[in-house]
Amino acid sequence: MKSPVVRAPAPVPYGLPHSSKVTLDKLARLGITRGFDLVLHLPLRYDDETHVYPIAEAPAGQHVVVEGRVVECDVKYRPRRQLVCHMEDGSGVLTLRFLHFYPSQAKQLAPGARVRVFGEIRQGFFGAEVVHPRYKVVPENAPVPKSLTPVYPTTAGLGQDALRRLIQQALADCDLSDTLAPDVLAPLRLPLFRESVRFLHNPPPEVAQADLQARRHPAWRRIKFDELLAQQLSMRLHYRKRKAAGALALKPSRTLTHRLVASLPFALTAAQQRVYGEVQRDLAQRFPMQRLLQGDVGSGKTIVAALAALQAVENGAQVGIMAPTEILAEQHYRKFAAWLEPLGVRVTWIAGGLRKREKIAALEAIAGGGTQVAVGTHALFQDEVRFENLALAIVDEQHRFGVHQRLALRMKGTRSGKGAQPHQLMMSATPIPRTLAMSYYADLDVSVIDEMPPGRTPVATRLVSAARRDEVIQRVRDACVEGSQAYWVCPLIEESEVSKTGGGREKLQLETALDTYATVQAAFPELNVGLVHGRLKSAEKAEVMDAFKAGAIQLLVATTVIEVGVDVPNATLMVIEHAERMGLSQLHQLRGRVGRGAAASACILLYQGPLTETARERLKIIYENTDGFVVAREDLRVRGPGEMLGARQSGVPLLRFADLEADVDLLDAARDMADALLRDDPHAAQGHLARWLGGRNELLKV
Ligand code: ADP
Ligand code: MG
Repeated sequence: MKSPVVRAPAPVPYGLPHSSKVTLDKLARLGITRGFDLVLHLPLRYDDETHVYPIAEAPAGQHVVVEGRVVECDVKYRPRRQLVCHMEDGSGVLTLRFLHFYPSQAKQLAPGARVRVFGEIRQGFFGAEVVHPRYKVVPENAPVPKSLTPVYPTTAGLGQDALRRLIQQALADCDLSDTLAPDVLAPLRLPLFRESVRFLHNPPPEVAQADLQARRHPAWRRIKFDELLAQQLSMRLHYRKRKAAGALALKPSRTLTHRLVASLPFALTAAQQRVYGEVQRDLAQRFPMQRLLQGDVGSGKTIVAALAALQAVENGAQVGIMAPTEILAEQHYRKFAAWLEPLGVRVTWIAGGLRKREKIAALEAIAGGGTQVAVGTHALFQDEVRFENLALAIVDEQHRFGVHQRLALRMKGTRSGKGAQPHQLMMSATPIPRTLAMSYYADLDVSVIDEMPPGRTPVATRLVSAARRDEVIQRVRDACVEGSQAYWVCPLIEESEVSKTGGGREKLQLETALDTYATVQAAFPELNVGLVHGRLKSAEKAEVMDAFKAGAIQLLVATTVIEVGVDVPNATLMVIEHAERMGLSQLHQLRGRVGRGAAASACILLYQGPLTETARERLKIIYENTDGFVVAREDLRVRGPGEMLGARQSGVPLLRFADLEADVDLLDAARDMADALLRDDPHAAQGHLARWLGGRNELLKV
């Protein structure tokens, strides 16, 4: 489908300079497929070759240029074969040492030759020397470069000189004119695009290298702004494209939703009402909703999802609800069944572990329209699952799913098949910091539940060294004896450690869990201890979880399979082993499993010392903050956006230059500019996208 703005296919005026197949392959390895990619292949750093130092004054430990005449040049055989050349410039003598050399080099560097040498000079045993320098035989008074020499990221077999030549060629060939009109650009106080790229590839020697290195220089800011603008434009177009697609308008009749609300043992919080209002409005539109429902763990997202589902059912349509783990999906199934079946709505469970007969029955109910709500794991989007009339897809813990999985569910559109797409409600307890929401998630609408149901007591977090494990065991026993329940969570082990021990990551985690299970069982003969991990069959898992929910098990040893969504209000204590190895958001999620009832709750983070500085900093963050937003922002700062984005990465143009935290002012400006351009000058918007995304517009079809 054509987007409303980009009418003509984008021109491709930026070919690569003519090169051999071998070179093209190497460039491709660097992600360079167009001339313009060369223009945007910006230096890692610069060498200053604009100034020739007297040998005696050349600063140590720094790339410098010296020049002089060769006085002696010989192949030496001790301590190993090497070419040793002495040159002098009147101020001193410098030794050039080549451990690998061609015979021709000995000729070039014959006594009397005038050479210019580039490299790092060290004070060796025999005076100043430089190993394997770059050098050039030069005439008297040869000119020095007027700008700093860029050093580019490169790949094996593609030297700096070759890359520099290609880039200079591209700078000369490519159209570098501004995609932004002067009056649009003026208020930003940023240099022209052409000036900016030329500057960054060939900066004058007097520029403060620190500004270039930190990417603070106005030329850098212009590049980053353009990149952010391209991202904003593509997200905006994607958003418009969605608005142009059709969906079933699900008008709220409020017959079922009102009855569900009336049947609940609690009143919705103001935040739940507000976000349901937003969802309700979206569902009634004729284009597909794509809304992210965000709320900290325990904020009550599930009931909002149930209300949305009922609104679809009120319209005679079907709903698919997908969760990333079987435990969580099953919990949803039970909750939805308990809430909706009394209203006469049929809820069907579909997961990999179903027996054949049950599965066939489930598939038939979904395909024939006998069931209105299907709940399951990723089994829900497999080919054999066909909906009669799917109008709403709900995805819990959306960041756990890949783009393709979510897409597959969406593609199970309505029976009419006339391009109508289901509405999508995605839920996540991992809050997206503002900058990410504005950039990578700019094509989604976001609703936030920013209020906890009443009567919760905040979870007290304690950091305890693993050396004090005995005290912790005592504390767990006390809590359980007093009638509370507890989780004992074993860590996810880092891949790097796994490779050392040769096992699978899951296996190691399992072993830790099994060990812990044995230990606590021995320590607590009077308690019922349960064990749950990813290798159990789903029926076994469900059995343990049921026993825990019912209070028959007081202490549950678990791998991180319980990370998401599990809801047992009587559990008030959680011990997390090796907390120093876990991600902050993961710790926050885990911690959210306790503190779900009125009783005071605690989370004990056991750590194995000695802690690295970063580990200490991270644990401090989780210790000091109970707000998931703060935790997520800090997590973003420490780890960068890659991890948080998870699967979303593959669908959205990634940022190479801009840094969301440091460049938030540019992000704001780019967002405003994207709106203005699409409104006032779609042609410029198109040109800008063509320049930055080139043929990669297919990235936008998420
Ligand atoms: P999450 O947002 O983490 O998915 P849930 O939807 O599982 O949270 O809700 C957590 C718990 O809070 C559940 O036991 C749910 O029944 C309960 N709950 C939800 N909304 C309210 C409310 N408004 N008042 C009291 N309890 C609520
Ligand atoms: Mg949940």
